[in-house]
Amino acid sequence: MPRTYDRQCPHCSRRATWPDTPTYPFCSERCRLIDLGAWASEGYRIPGEPVPEEVEGFGYLDSEADVEADWDERG
Ligand SMILES: [Zn+2]
Repeated sequence: MPRTYDRQCPHCSRRATWPDTPTYPFCSERCRLIDLGAWASEGYRIPGEPVPEEVEGFGYLDSEADVEADWDERG
């Protein structure tokens, strides 16, 4: 007898079943994405996950400001 699962979608509380619902425990792909979006916007980060874009961006802005300051001093 195959195992099946049955629970409410965490987002809209509709019934989701496994294996009938590929997005289980979410009732649909839409609810799954909405929930993932909420998870991300709450500011969670995977521990140890680097954020290279932000770090590089700040570093770049910093050095550019230094260069401009040098030019000002030299007149
Ligand atoms: Zn749902």
